[in-house]
Amino acid sequence: MVENIDLLIVGAGPAGLMAAAWAAVYGIKTKVVDKRTTKIEKGHADGLQSRTIEILHSFGFGDGIYKEANRLQEVCFWNPDENGVIRRTDRIADTIPKISRFQQSVIHQGRIEQYFLEFVQHPPEVCIDRGVEPAGLEIDKSLIANEDAYPITVTLKRGKEALVDGIGGAEDDSGEESVVGCKYMIGCDGAHSWVREKLGIMMEGAQTESVWGVMDILPITDFPDIRSRCTIHSASAGTIMVIPRERGLVRLYIQLAHLTPARGERFDKSNGSPETIFAAAKRIMAPYDISYNYCEWWTVYQVGQRVANAFAKYDRIFLAGDAVHTHSPKAGQGMNVSMHDSYNLVWKIASVIKRKARPLILSTYATERRAVALQLIEFDRRFSRMFSGRPAKDIADEAGISMEEFKRTFEKGNIFTSGISVKYGTNVLVDSMGKPEVAFRMPFGGLQLGMRFPSSQVACQADATPIQLGDALKSDGLWRLIVFAGEVTQPLAKERLDRLGDALLQPHSFLRRLQQEVTLEPVLVHASSRQSVELFDFPKAFYSKKDGQYDYYRVFADDATYHHGHGNAYSNYGVDKESGCAVLTRPDQYIGWMGEVDDVKGMERYLSAILR
Ligand code: FAD
Repeated sequence: MVENIDLLIVGAGPAGLMAAAWAAVYGIKTKVVDKRTTKIEKGHADGLQSRTIEILHSFGFGDGIYKEANRLQEVCFWNPDENGVIRRTDRIADTIPKISRFQQSVIHQGRIEQYFLEFVQHPPEVCIDRGVEPAGLEIDKSLIANEDAYPITVTLKRGKEALVDGIGGAEDDSGEESVVGCKYMIGCDGAHSWVREKLGIMMEGAQTESVWGVMDILPITDFPDIRSRCTIHSASAGTIMVIPRERGLVRLYIQLAHLTPARGERFDKSNGSPETIFAAAKRIMAPYDISYNYCEWWTVYQVGQRVANAFAKYDRIFLAGDAVHTHSPKAGQGMNVSMHDSYNLVWKIASVIKRKARPLILSTYATERRAVALQLIEFDRRFSRMFSGRPAKDIADEAGISMEEFKRTFEKGNIFTSGISVKYGTNVLVDSMGKPEVAFRMPFGGLQLGMRFPSSQVACQADATPIQLGDALKSDGLWRLIVFAGEVTQPLAKERLDRLGDALLQPHSFLRRLQQEVTLEPVLVHASSRQSVELFDFPKAFYSKKDGQYDYYRVFADDATYHHGHGNAYSNYGVDKESGCAVLTRPDQYIGWMGEVDDVKGMERYLSAILR
């Protein structure tokens, strides 16, 4: 018998679980299958970038992870001096100050997966089935245009390859088969993606000769910066990156020059062992001493930099995460960018399934995320070359890497790796017809079309509570109209706002319908003193709820609070207090439209191209 479902997700790694989280929010009937019998318990990825923590926070479980993780504060650069002895040559902030309210943090992949699993375990619509893999895939092309149809048929098999932590484990070889019909499918099945292979999508790029070892250890050392993130370039023994982790652990990424294969060949993995990897680490860190008596996890890998030539087929089957991009893990991007892929994708799929949005939005996934993947590979090429290179002895040493240039590349790279700088280009979801020029003086604090809406502190009009505006933008599937109404005690600003308020209440207006259907939520930030106005001076749409109750947490003042100072939101966002502006954010908090406070036509034009 065929079981019909809305969405099949193959792979319950970071990309698959992020996809499942959105499915749970929207309540679409979803099955996640993974050939492993358990989640990852140790090792693999461990870095959480600022943007990822913002996203986890928006689902409501970022706090726990952030508390548990080790928040990285500083990067120390260690380079050889004129005698070839490593010395600390510089220190910088690990996360660029003010880029986000969250700093890059480190915690192992298994804990992050656990938080997701807890989040998705309650909604009955999402089911995670382990020890299961797809064995057959058919697509009925004649059904693709039919939104009610299930054009994808997948045979699932309770598998032999029930791996535990990638090293073999409990096997359930029942071979039992079942068949699911799906409206949509996502391959989040990692670097060796079965789904990608079935679709005939190719990875483009190359394997480098660079071989690295990774060890998670409790170190015993006299190296003074072991609790800071460090890059250590030795004169001739290679390079190490030190990542201080949670629970006192330290991850070492160690260059293994002795395992470098011939050009175009793969290295021999059997030559890697904790002993040989650690011996390389000791050589690089000399004259400092390092040893350990607990190693939690280790592996060796050869860096490959590849991107898939397509991210989707018929806008019905999609690929996300390592299934479409692979690169070196040292910049901590793999898990983050993978989660960002499915974070970008699944609200779109779910909105289409729920008949809220038009299917044409689905094509924006490939355009938006493939562009990011290409940037990532470009960044990784530069970063890896710098990282793996030998330090230059002096200016004349052209074969060596200038450590000044390395630091500059590293600092610049920090903007990219934070995930904050992602800017989606113009498409149906990012409309350049509004008034994007309201922004911006600040490169990252301000509001920019196609970028995520940054957080800033404001004061709640109703009760003076200091609120991070980012907290108002939850991952709950809502679009938000954020109105910077300006100095509302001024007649012009008040009239402008009232015009918008009237439109939001017009019985037949599109904006009102979207509010009634709980698709669009209006939020207001004014620039007058909080005590000079009352909540009920504002248009009703900003505090009334569909059921007639009042919502006291959607009108805010850019004003001082009693205990947490002034957030200076208008100045952070670069919004002019006289003219104000209006911003429409997508359910993933990216800014899709910006314009005048009362440009109702512009808002409706943008939204009606997307929403039904
Ligand atoms: P994955 O995490 O690979 O998840 C894919 C999931 O799909 C897995 O659970 C897998 O069991 C499942 N799956 C695969 N094929 C099938 C199938 N046919 N049917 C059903 N299920 C399937 N990143 C770092 O930043 N630092 C590191 O040190 C680091 N080390 C790594 C070490 C290893 C051994 C591996 C494999 C990855 C490592 N990574 C590291 C990369 C990082 O883990 C990934 O970038 C990140 O997990 C990508 O998430 P994903 O969900 O796309 O893929």
